Amino acid sequence: MLDINNIRKDFPILTAEVNGKPLVYLDNAATTQKPQCVLDTIIKGYSNQNANIHRGVHFLSQIATEAHEAARITVQKFINAEKNHEIIFTRGTTEAINLVASSFVRSDMINNGDEIIVSAMEHHSNIVPWQLQQSIKDIKLKVIPFDDKGVLDIESFKSMITEKTKLVSVTHCSNTLGTVNPIKEIIEIAHSHNVPVLIDGAQGVPHHKVDVQYLDADFYVFSGHKIYGPTGIGVLYGKEKWLEKLPPYQGGGEMIKNVSFELTTFNELPFKFEAGTPDYIGSTALASALDYVSNLGLDNIIAHENDLLAYATEKMKTIEDMRFIGESTNKSGLISFLVGTIHPYDMGTILDKLGIAVRTGHHCAEPVMHRFGIEGTVRASFALYNTRDEIDVLVAGIERAARMFRKKK
Ligand code: PMP
Repeated sequence: MLDINNIRKDFPILTAEVNGKPLVYLDNAATTQKPQCVLDTIIKGYSNQNANIHRGVHFLSQIATEAHEAARITVQKFINAEKNHEIIFTRGTTEAINLVASSFVRSDMINNGDEIIVSAMEHHSNIVPWQLQQSIKDIKLKVIPFDDKGVLDIESFKSMITEKTKLVSVTHCSNTLGTVNPIKEIIEIAHSHNVPVLIDGAQGVPHHKVDVQYLDADFYVFSGHKIYGPTGIGVLYGKEKWLEKLPPYQGGGEMIKNVSFELTTFNELPFKFEAGTPDYIGSTALASALDYVSNLGLDNIIAHENDLLAYATEKMKTIEDMRFIGESTNKSGLISFLVGTIHPYDMGTILDKLGIAVRTGHHCAEPVMHRFGIEGTVRASFALYNTRDEIDVLVAGIERAARMFRKKK
């Protein structure tokens, strides 16, 4: 069991007041708060060991390089990648998917008329990068549907794979529905047709034990800021065999071996995909965040968050006119909801007045909204530092907002 009250002391922002009320931060699917150790790593990085990495022979450059490469190994261990050069640092999930989309489509692994499969519950970051590539090659996007509860239709997925399918790209967990997808099964099905799979782990890594070798994922991507790390740093894991085959994404910096106007050659992995000055402070701060999570124990965090999810679901069920968007039996991290005809924005604004931070709107997943014929939802999303007391404050806040709107009618 985690001592949450003690753990909360690690997060300076959690003592803040908003509108004269103690902050209840339930917008963790958008970004998580940062523990002091992550903040300290950033300060220490810039205060004591700041120098551009890789190219320097001087002392500071060497220790900064060592810290960046040590961070790569921390990430490798965290998701159990086989090789450390299979870890590419990116700006986040979005950049990692854009990298794979751009490089994959420019490779000879996909041709005009071929197909890529995504799902109907993807974040825009796993839809638009593929659409952008449609101007490079004539590629068809096929979309796995989901049912009224927000569960992917795996039979339909099986039937849509053809010899033209060249990649499957699906989310581990939906940021809107909370659904946890059966990614191991999806990968097995795709692999039985020799099709590689990219998993968008933005909402996966913070709430699940991820073992990329066990999953046999070809690509797994996530963002540092959703797992207590800083913004601007994220991870692309790719199997060596795919990363070797993909052409570089961006040019410049450490990604070259030799440059001339006649012939430029590229560096080995992982540097081939890390053009420009890497975010070496971000990478070390991300490693601090992952160490923090590992020290608390991911199993303990998962148990605590699942308790919060179950507790919140039971409590919220009792609210009149409550409608959950996303009712899979396998959910993690969040609850999306609507109450009667109250607009999500109005609900969010009233909750904010009570110091409660939730997100409202389409959550960058407009196709999910279209599927339910709604404009948006209110989303409460949980992290390791949230408490049952905070859920009680949320439920009381929702009830108060609902009463105000009922009166108005
Ligand atoms: N995919 C999912 C499932 C997400 O929840 C998010 C962030 N909301 C993203 C992708 C994009 O992440 P980022 O903005 O950190 O690149």
